[in-house]
Amino acid sequence: MRRGIKVYHRDFERRCFELRDRADLIVLETKCRNCDSYYLIDWPIMHYIKRSNLTPHIPLNGVKCFECKHDNCIIIP
Ligand SMILES: [Zn+2]
Repeated sequence: MRRGIKVYHRDFERRCFELRDRADLIVLETKCRNCDSYYLIDWPIMHYIKRSNLTPHIPLNGVKCFECKHDNCIIIP
């Protein structure tokens, strides 16, 4: 059974708090388009800034789903 969105948000806030001293990293909520798994990933902020002109529908380069191993994870807008 999948966890609810409130749990997702709490996990997101917790991870942001854990990384509060890391100005070079941001936390992204991502979803696998293949199996619908949800992930939080730490992402270098410079990579995110460089991506800012791209749509969230373009998979994150180099991020593989932990469940199905497909590299088809997108940022949840
Ligand atoms: Zn997957």
